Amino acid sequence: MARVKWEERCHRCGLCCHEKVIIGDQVIYDLDAYCEYYDVKTHRCTIYLERLEKSARCQRVNRFRAMFASYLPESCAYVQWARSHHIRFAPKRHIRLARGDLNGGEEEDIPASLN
Ligand code: SF4
Repeated sequence: MARVKWEERCHRCGLCCHEKVIIGDQVIYDLDAYCEYYDVKTHRCTIYLERLEKSARCQRVNRFRAMFASYLPESCAYVQWARSHHIRFAPKRHIRLARGDLNGGEEEDIPASLN
């Protein structure tokens, strides 16, 4: 039951399923590159219950990652949870959305929901 409640916090933005790089105070998400099991239309994982077995790169967003994972955006529900409990230890980073080359490709505006 506690696990279900924890998982229901997710906003389903899907940013954690995209390729990303951290450069200084920015985390840059590539909107064109994402996990093979990610559905870009629904922002959902297509194999959610089996994702940890089928995708070697997938990591459960648990309390530890909510506290420390730098790749999660500030808008992430789990980061917000950790911040609200004063246990977020990764520095705040600005979000950038890019397509293609993460170091000079096209940039996308940040939706209000991610600010
Ligand atoms: S970044 Fe956070 S809120 Fe967005 S899909 Fe990933 S876990 Fe959910």
